[in-house]
Amino acid sequence: MNDEKLAGGEERIKTAREPDREQPPAPAHHFHCEVNELYHPEDAGRHLGALLTDLGERNLYDAAAQCNRCGYCETSCPTYMLTGRETISARGRNQFVRMLVEGRAKNIADAEESLSTCLLCGACSSACYAKVPTPDIVLEGRRALTGYGENFFARAAVAGLLNAPRLFAFWLKLAYLAKKTGLPRLAARMGLYDFLGMPGLAEAESSVENTPLRFASELLRKDAELRPEGRRQAGWAYFAPCGPNYLFTEVALATVRVLKKSSGAGVFIDNQCCGLMAHNYGRLEDAREFARRNIARYEELKAELGEFPVIADCSSCAAFMKSYEQLFTSDEAWRPRAAAFAAAVKDILEFIPPGKAGHAAPAAAAKAGRVTYHDSCRACHGQGIRVEPRAVLRKLAGKQYRELPESDWCCGGAGAFAFTQPELSRQVLDRKLRNIASVQADTVVVGATSCLAQINSGLRAAYPSARAVHYSVFLDEVTREK
Ligand code: SF4
Ligand code: SF4
Repeated sequence: MNDEKLAGGEERIKTAREPDREQPPAPAHHFHCEVNELYHPEDAGRHLGALLTDLGERNLYDAAAQCNRCGYCETSCPTYMLTGRETISARGRNQFVRMLVEGRAKNIADAEESLSTCLLCGACSSACYAKVPTPDIVLEGRRALTGYGENFFARAAVAGLLNAPRLFAFWLKLAYLAKKTGLPRLAARMGLYDFLGMPGLAEAESSVENTPLRFASELLRKDAELRPEGRRQAGWAYFAPCGPNYLFTEVALATVRVLKKSSGAGVFIDNQCCGLMAHNYGRLEDAREFARRNIARYEELKAELGEFPVIADCSSCAAFMKSYEQLFTSDEAWRPRAAAFAAAVKDILEFIPPGKAGHAAPAAAAKAGRVTYHDSCRACHGQGIRVEPRAVLRKLAGKQYRELPESDWCCGGAGAFAFTQPELSRQVLDRKLRNIASVQADTVVVGATSCLAQINSGLRAAYPSARAVHYSVFLDEVTREK
């Protein structure tokens, strides 16, 4: 039996469910202070007014206190399973935040490590009977500890997307042009990113193979069939998340083709970023502004076209937009508008029933080979989507479909996690790759663009005969004759 000290000096005893392994000695920290000096819940701009949990609306303390430390989620948590460390499990993280609010946390460095290593995957919440929203609790703790996304890169990226999206797109294209010259790779080989203290940039550069010089929104605006003008209704509206818009253009175009084939006429909503990046960096006011603009755009179209579902093809963004109401719990005017918008959002993974997915073309099905499905965290844990995409894939792939062991084990991409925690991310990814190899898959279907980049980056290095494809691209390719 091992004891482990949490931040407030409290000791706990491991349960029988936990791996019995030696703990590394706790690092010595000399920095002691009342951490709750950093937590200002009255600052509504910088913190959520309340968390919308399965047990009702809760303040941060009560949400964290819902964790009764039963440990039932421990074996679902990738960071705990890989390290055996209580402080980087859901139970440990909820405990840190609780003590942070109480002012009993003593070590800022330990708290930062605990919260910054969370994948925000939500596997713990799926396993938890009390449905403790650990990812939201962790994000609130991070906002308090890391200064509300005020570092230069967070501010520049979010401000560019929010206030000057065309300029942002221009700079992105310049960066992509530079990538095509091979300069970033050369910089990585020379250790320049390490020298600059940004080793994560080398990981980011290597994870994406081809970068587009025309973005999806530019192409979709030119598609006359997708314009709302002169229309009286729409079967759907396509929302282009930043991944498909700026990086995986082929995903956005495939989604629109699949929607046209399966669901008739629709429109392009010509949206802004959903705000997830601002939200996760700690810039809540910016996230709210992105949300307000998207809600207003939706309402404008709804006035012209009546009710329609808003379809997004990145599960992280779809899950976040479904939670827009949580951004406005202290805002009576925007809260119902956010809730109405959230109710209209659908992930492409859940939108197309098997009967409307078409039929597999024999040559395309043969090319896809053995097909398996990876549950993106924000699809299965964030939105409860598991059955719908499998029903479609089983129909299209037939006997070539294989169920992936531990399909809801995170791939380690988790937004920027692969760049901020490269070593832990690699370990999480390795287990995913071993599972893919165990079913000898040729095609791994995913629903989020960060999974697409992460799994393909791993497959290229360790299992190059397989490839990860986005769900929309798979549906589009496999049903295409010729
Ligand atoms: S998060 Fe839920 S399952 Fe995990 S220890 Fe807390 S109460 Fe138990
Ligand atoms: S969100 Fe994922 S990494 Fe974070 S505590 Fe829960 S299971 Fe662990």
